Amino acid sequence: MKMHTIAMTLFFLAAVLAGQAHAGAPAGPVAIAIHAGAGSMSREDSSPEIDAEIRATLEQAVRAGHEVLTSGGSSLDAVSMAVTILEDAPFFNAGRGAVFNSEGVNELDASIMDGRTLNAGAVAGVHNVRNPVLLARKVMSGSAHVMLAGPGAEAFAREQGIVFEDDAYFRTERRWQQLQEAKAMETAQARREPDSWLSTVGAVALDAQGNLAAATSTGGMTNKRWGRIGDVPVIGAGTYADNNSCAVSATGHGEYFIRATAARDICARIEYTGASLQEAADQVVMQKLVEMGGRGGIIAVDPQGHLSLTFNTSGMHRASVDTEGELYIGIYNDE
Ligand code: ASP
Repeated sequence: MKMHTIAMTLFFLAAVLAGQAHAGAPAGPVAIAIHAGAGSMSREDSSPEIDAEIRATLEQAVRAGHEVLTSGGSSLDAVSMAVTILEDAPFFNAGRGAVFNSEGVNELDASIMDGRTLNAGAVAGVHNVRNPVLLARKVMSGSAHVMLAGPGAEAFAREQGIVFEDDAYFRTERRWQQLQEAKAMETAQARREPDSWLSTVGAVALDAQGNLAAATSTGGMTNKRWGRIGDVPVIGAGTYADNNSCAVSATGHGEYFIRATAARDICARIEYTGASLQEAADQVVMQKLVEMGGRGGIIAVDPQGHLSLTFNTSGMHRASVDTEGELYIGIYNDE
């Protein structure tokens, strides 16, 4: 009986101490950044109304992700939340409003990575999945694989209860017109910068437990061949996260980002050379990719909560909330 009482008391004390330890655990800084695509952007080609709408959606997404972090949620939950909101917005090239491939079909790519475990999930070339980032997360948490593509990914999505939408949900008139223009240019053998990659979306975050995560989602590039897979679902190219260095989500001409292993290269430079986050981002985005001819940008966060929003184009839809809780939103390269 006595032993039982002592054991109970010890158990109770341990529980209280554990509770206190949890309640009083020093919460680290949190930070988040999002993007919704980089490319040729000018105020002349846009309008104050369109810009205001884009800024409002960026703010909504970054604030929602930040709220997850400040309420103790994980960086994985924060990036999933932010990317889901951007996928649901019709003017970004991910989920609803995605660009069309050359067959007039939306083929979606997405990925997510957990910097704590180096677990990752990705889907490529999927159709009718409302939120490809949530499917990528299911691949990470609910399968033995990192990447699933096409019909196999869709079958897995159905098993997992992922939400599907019909074609009409994804279609926007603007994207359809972009496809017609791209096809006309093709037949005229005219060349122009593909501006369809204005609006891929992504998020990176640091949570209070010191864990990093990154996620990216896209419809790819207008008029792409069916079956083309870009950098977004390729871990290390469009998305990477490692608690020892940084978390990165990229946007731009995917073929270049794949060949540059852009996201991983930024993290590797931090890990191997001791470069700061901004130095590593500049080396890859402003030097290496520029020399290759690869246009685009990245968002990144390191374990201290430093943020980098770096792009070699005239604009990148972007927003962040830093470790001080300061909100930043930008579209053009002069702001
Ligand atoms: N990187 C994407 C791709 O090549 C496009 C983009 O970022 O807008 O599929």
